[in-house]
Amino acid sequence: MARPLPNHSIEIGMAVTPSVAIVGRPNVGKSTLFNRLLGQRKAIVHDQPGVTRDRITGQMEFEDERSVLLVDTGGLVPGDDLLGLNRQVLLAGEESDLLIFVVDGKQGLVAADETVWQQLREYSKPSILVVNKADTTAAQEGHYEFYRLGFERQILVSAEHALGIGELHEAIAEMLPAPVAVEEIDAPHLAIVGRPNVGKSSLLNRMLGKNRALVSPEPGTTRDPIDTLVKNGEEEYVLVDTAGIRRRSRVSGAPEELAVMMARRQLDRADVALLVVDASQGVTSGDLAIAGTAWELGRPSVVLVNKWDLLDEKSREKLEESWERLDELLAGPARVNISALTGRGVEKVLPAAAEVLGLLETRPGTSELNRILAAAVSRHRAPHLAGKPWKLRYATQVSSAPPTFVLFANRRLPRQAPYRRYLENFLRQELGLWGIPIRLVIRTQ
Ligand code: GDP
Ligand code: GDP
Repeated sequence: MARPLPNHSIEIGMAVTPSVAIVGRPNVGKSTLFNRLLGQRKAIVHDQPGVTRDRITGQMEFEDERSVLLVDTGGLVPGDDLLGLNRQVLLAGEESDLLIFVVDGKQGLVAADETVWQQLREYSKPSILVVNKADTTAAQEGHYEFYRLGFERQILVSAEHALGIGELHEAIAEMLPAPVAVEEIDAPHLAIVGRPNVGKSSLLNRMLGKNRALVSPEPGTTRDPIDTLVKNGEEEYVLVDTAGIRRRSRVSGAPEELAVMMARRQLDRADVALLVVDASQGVTSGDLAIAGTAWELGRPSVVLVNKWDLLDEKSREKLEESWERLDELLAGPARVNISALTGRGVEKVLPAAAEVLGLLETRPGTSELNRILAAAVSRHRAPHLAGKPWKLRYATQVSSAPPTFVLFANRRLPRQAPYRRYLENFLRQELGLWGIPIRLVIRTQ
């Protein structure tokens, strides 16, 4: 029998880590500056414009213990438009609280700087103009021309030689939005995540039981993340960053990298991922990327296979074929077939999440745990490591959500050891922890 839809929802203001985007043309030194601000050695700077970076985000800490998510939008560059600037602009404009607009003092002001800045300023975000390569004479003599961009202040830095970085650090701290008072709600947090266009905001509207009109954003007014509290009978859940889900769905052509990044941000604050995939497209590599992110973060997923109404026999076969990779990646996750359009299956979403939340709290007794692991070892002998047998002495659970077990043994098992995966899967099977990321920590004393 279908359960009633949640009948009640409230929106809550929430503080999340503010995000600061570094934007600018290729080769102005964004990546060098990114590494410098994070206090790292410049590891991945290339002379060629548009070379992919390994990392595009990092946590930057301040003395007062605040921190920000620093985003190197240049990391998104390779792509369709010549300079990759549209993607950067989109990412920075939609998702960040503060922009660091970097120009190249050695080269001087060029037309592309003005074009990018014109697009960025539409978003009316607090912004800092950084003239990089201040170690060069050209920059020292010519930086005044950048005032034409319309900033009242510019900060000269040399990312490469660590000049002016302290001043920039202070400017960032000054311009960060004031922290919002956090009202922590003691209810499980769920994040609706997925690629662009899979139906996240349609589902959200369905779950809230009303079809809201999607109004266009007033520049500067939609920045604060808003969570929504939903009730299903007596149970309460917080849907994370619902304002962001609505906002993002209006951006056409939003890049998938952005979806992965944003999913990570949402999942940071969530207990369970509601991973939406598009049934008519089958499981794609973008879906797997987001699923992998959730798994890495130790968050189980409920996979919502949406747009079920669009399936015919052929596309259904394709879907089930592509499903296997996701099923394997997430170790047999809960799955609900839904249609946000017709409402099919949507009433099963919160109950499925409730079930997963229950599993997440699983705590077998210590003797049961040791019995299961002894059975695992006797069924499939542990490998020899450096000529000696690996021996398990004793195991205990140290935490739940996700279930984390410490195994005391005579030696370590390498991270990638297949035997680890075997033990994990054995435990999962015995304890019925389908779809739950399990952590094994091996201790030798
Ligand atoms: P991005 O494409 O904007 O991320 O630029 P990169 O960080 O990859 O830097 C592009 C080039 O500018 C590299 O050759 C860097 O060594 C150089 N560069 C970066 N910062 C500085 C600087 O402060 N001074 C000078 N002279 N060169 C720099
Ligand atoms: P988001 O980008 O993930 O938030 O996706 P949207 O909710 O904006 O939906 C993208 C498109 O898919 C819109 O045109 C929706 O009307 C459509 N859509 C969403 N859910 C369904 C569904 O269950 N069935 C069908 N046929 N279309 C859907």
